[in-house]
Parts: sequence; C-alpha cells; structure tokens
Amino acid sequence: MKVSFIDLQSQYYSIKKEIDDSIQRVLHDTAFSAGPYVKEFETNFAIKHNAKFCIGVNSGTAALHASLMALGIGVGDEVIVPTNTFFATPEAVSLVGATPVFIDCELEYANINTELIEKAVTSKTKAIIAVHLYGQSAKIDIINNIAKKYNIFFIEDAAQAHLAEFNGSPIGTAGDCSCFSFYCGKNLGAYGEGGAVLTNDENLYNKIMMIRDHGSSIKYHHEVIGHNYRMAGIQGAILNVKLKYLEDWTNKRRKNADIYKAHLNVCSEICLPYEMQGAKHVYHLFVIKAENRDELAQYLLNKQIYTGLHYPIPCHLQKAYNFLGYKVGDMPISEKLSKEILSLPMSEQLEEDQIIYVANNIKEFYA
Ligand SMILES: *Cc1c(COP(=O)(O)O)cnc(C)c1O
Repeated sequence: MKVSFIDLQSQYYSIKKEIDDSIQRVLHDTAFSAGPYVKEFETNFAIKHNAKFCIGVNSGTAALHASLMALGIGVGDEVIVPTNTFFATPEAVSLVGATPVFIDCELEYANINTELIEKAVTSKTKAIIAVHLYGQSAKIDIINNIAKKYNIFFIEDAAQAHLAEFNGSPIGTAGDCSCFSFYCGKNLGAYGEGGAVLTNDENLYNKIMMIRDHGSSIKYHHEVIGHNYRMAGIQGAILNVKLKYLEDWTNKRRKNADIYKAHLNVCSEICLPYEMQGAKHVYHLFVIKAENRDELAQYLLNKQIYTGLHYPIPCHLQKAYNFLGYKVGDMPISEKLSKEILSLPMSEQLEEDQIIYVANNIKEFYA
C-alpha cells in the first residue's frame, strides 16, 4: 500500500466541479489580480476567525513581511522569534532589516517557551512573533501579557493553524495581527501560492492594503514604499470554494490523529503529539518523536510510506544565520527535537486502513 504524505489529487477530485467552475468564472471576468474574488474570500476568511479585517496576499512570507513593514519595524530593531519554525518566520524579520532574536521551544508542544521570552527583551525589542507550530496554538495569553507589559507588538504566525483554537476561540486575533499561508500543502491551500493577514486594527489594515499594492490606495499615487503582494484572482476563487470544506477537513484531520493515537499508544519507542489544555490542534502535521528516527523513516519509505521532517535544522543553526553567531548547544530542546521528530502522513484524505498500515509498520520496525 502506498501512503503519500499529503494527497492533493484526491482532494481536488472530491470538489472538482466547483473548483473548475470557480476558475472559469475568474477567466470569464478576467478578474486576475486581487479584485472581487479575492475580496469575497477575504470577507469569508475574516468571519471564520472572528477578525474584523483580512488582507489577501500572495504568500505567507509576504503576509509576515508586509505586517512587519506596516508596524514600522526595521534596521536596528529586534524581533523575538522561536528557533523551532519554518525559515520564513525569521526571514521576514531579516527582510525588513531587523534582527531575529531566537528563543528555544518547550519540549511538550514544540512551541515557543514562554518562560524564556522576558529574558530576551531588550530596549531594541519591537515585536514578538509566536508560531502555532504543527497546527497547535502557542500560549497566546501569556505572550500577549508579555507584549503588553513591554509595549511591543505581537504577531501570530498562523501559517500552519487555520481554524485552530485557544480557550474556545479561533486563533488569529490575540495580538496586533496574524499571518496565514495558503501554500498548496497547508490545511487551506491555494493552487500555487497565497497568504493573508488578519487584524482588528483598521489603521494597520489600511497600511497593509497599501503595502500590498506598491504603497498606494489610489492608482499611481504612492504614499509609502510597498511591494507587489497582491493575491491572484484565481487563488481567491479557489480558496473561497475550499474554505467551505475547511471545518469538515479539520475534523477529519483530528479524527485521523485519534486513529493514529489509538494504534500507536502501545509503542514505547515513540512519543505521540500532546494536545495542550484548552487548545484545539488542527494537525497540519502529525509529529511524533521516535527512537532511531532516520532508520524508522527509511524503513517506512521502503514500505512506500512517505514521511517528513519539520524541521531538520533549527533556524539559529541555518547557514544563512551564521552571521548572528549562534552555535550548537544554544537551543538544546529545539536541537534535540530536530533529531527525534518525524512527521507521519496526515491529511483529510487519509483513510483509516492507511493509518493502520502506517502504525503496524512502525510497530514492526521496533519489533
Ligand atoms: C509555510 C509557512 C510560512 C511561509 O508561508 P509561504 O506561503 O510558504 O510563504 C511561514 N511560517 C510558517 C510557520 C510556515 O509553515
């Protein structure tokens, strides 16, 4: 049996007619760049997360970069970020000329260790970015309190956490703004690239809307230096179709996680993902910690089970950040996790017999 890491093809065929029709409409209306289909998606996406405003952009990285630009963060400023994240989180900080200050993660949930944040605050700190890694909320109440105490901005990197919840409310409005990715493999994926910023702050909304369009709100009148970060019309139309299914798909992912847990909890060589009290995990990734991780991954690959590593190198040890002077041992938990983690196949298309096949093969490997 082959078990792909994600299965975008069967997802497409499950909603093919609606998707094809939506693309046809965009072609007919030639609404290619931003425009009415993107607007419609922005409205619906904001509602789903109880946010006042949404700005559709063309990637999650653009969402982070435009947010930092709009908050006025730049050269000489520091931004606190977890080292255990995808590279785009600190990269956006570097793109505005500021310095990422890395923080280690907590062992249980792999999210930023909130106990280390205050020690990292200096007079140069302008913002903190919390990542809801793998689809589980960071401790946004604690982070928000720290941000308020030191009067710094709080940005949520929600690229992996569409519809995730914290204490019964959807994530996305705890801080100044939140940034989403619609990269094709994310829980809500475009057919190509996409991203969005959510905010309740009208002033910030207006600024990011301008930055997305070369710093202008009136054509050819440029008030600030911006970028071309407009979302493509076709992506807006596709995302609008897929958004209707996102709740069902999220429930299916959670159900699949339960099936994995039921079949793997007897396996003492691995550690299953924990759900934090009060957090609704949306399982963008189902990440276990495993003894002999590399051998296990190879064993599974031989059985046509495709796994992933999120992430093999923590950001503070990436070559691109050599110039910041971090060294091995600086972030022990993230470094340890990078050697033990393994992302098992996970999507709403995954079937119970496939999950059981994966679980049985893991047990066989250790037996
Ligand atoms: C995917 C991702 C991003 C970047 O989004 P893109 O749409 O690929 O630019 C940023 N942060 C995290 C945590 C991500 O997983």
